[in-house]
Amino acid sequence: MTTAYRIEKLTGYAVDVYEARDRPGGRVYTVRMGNSYEELGGKSIADGGEATNIRFLIEEMGLKMETCTIDFAHRKCYYKGKSTPYYKAYLEGPLPDQQLYRQVLNWSQNSTNMAEILDRLFAHYPLLRQISEVRMRAYEGNDAKDLSLAYLEGFWDYFLSGYNFAHHKQTMDYQLESIEGGNSLLIEKLTAALRRPIHFHAPLRKITKTPEGKISLQFDNLNEVLTDYLVLAIPCSTLQKVEIQEGLLAKDQKEAIHTLQYGTNSKILVPVANIPENPPMFSLTDTMTT
Ligand SMILES: Cc1cc2nc3c(=O)[nH]c(=O)nc-3n(C[C@H](O)[C@H](O)[C@H](O)COP(=O)(O)OP(=O)(O)OC[C@H]3O[C@@H](n4cnc5c(N)ncnc54)[C@H](O)[C@@H]3O)c2cc1C
Repeated sequence: MTTAYRIEKLTGYAVDVYEARDRPGGRVYTVRMGNSYEELGGKSIADGGEATNIRFLIEEMGLKMETCTIDFAHRKCYYKGKSTPYYKAYLEGPLPDQQLYRQVLNWSQNSTNMAEILDRLFAHYPLLRQISEVRMRAYEGNDAKDLSLAYLEGFWDYFLSGYNFAHHKQTMDYQLESIEGGNSLLIEKLTAALRRPIHFHAPLRKITKTPEGKISLQFDNLNEVLTDYLVLAIPCSTLQKVEIQEGLLAKDQKEAIHTLQYGTNSKILVPVANIPENPPMFSLTDTMTT
């Protein structure tokens, strides 16, 4: 959606967006219940870094940000038969000092994924190895063996933050930023800003090139479309199912399409009418690690 909007703004061309489903936004989807709303898909704008471009876009669309605090210090797991905050369990493991971090960076030179790092870091702490794996799977939606070493820094920050919380009283609170009123507002604004209506129910199935040099798109539920330019904004794991004529993509693009994958996590929203003043100590994380 952002690509379509930016192309229209920068080039003056009108862009046609073809969407498989009956709504725009993909994995950004706000659910509204009464006066309340929550994200069923992506929530945290700055999950992958500073998010400079999307902040700029949000402002450009006249939208505002809101923050909520996640208290990581009280996230719990079942550890040695007891419901225990993660950070307390980690305190029984290796000391996350600079020396250990250098060691971990060294291991990363000849490792290919996070599982190999966990194997080495928690070689003498099988339970900590297991809760780390569960936490990664729950949050990222991938097994540690499928998480690249790009995740190392994030994991280390978390691992270290528990130690700093326990010994140096540093906060483990995380400020989560999203769009005030729901992230889907951005999708609605982008949709309204496009010059042409989106083509819904149009799953792309095949891309070929005609002898005249046009790009031919074949969809379910739609006649063939010929175009001069095509931007594919389909996730690689889905693009794997689109038949693309040999020679249309570069080797590294084809490789990426066949290796990159979706996380498999999903959310369940539980509406609660009246939250008791002293809710019982229970969290979904407890259930997942049981
Ligand atoms: C539960 C959950 C929580 C998340 N939390 C966060 C978070 O807190 N922070 C964060 O940064 N990220 C989060 N993410 C990830 C984030 O939502 C996605 O990375 C992002 O939305 C991907 O955007 P995209 O446009 O690349 O792909 P998508 O949003 O997947 O959009 C792809 C679109 O292509 C359409 N499509 C697919 N195949 C075809 C086809 N053959 N023909 C036509 N159309 C097709 C789809 O229907 C969809 O609309 C989360 C994801 C999930 C599922």
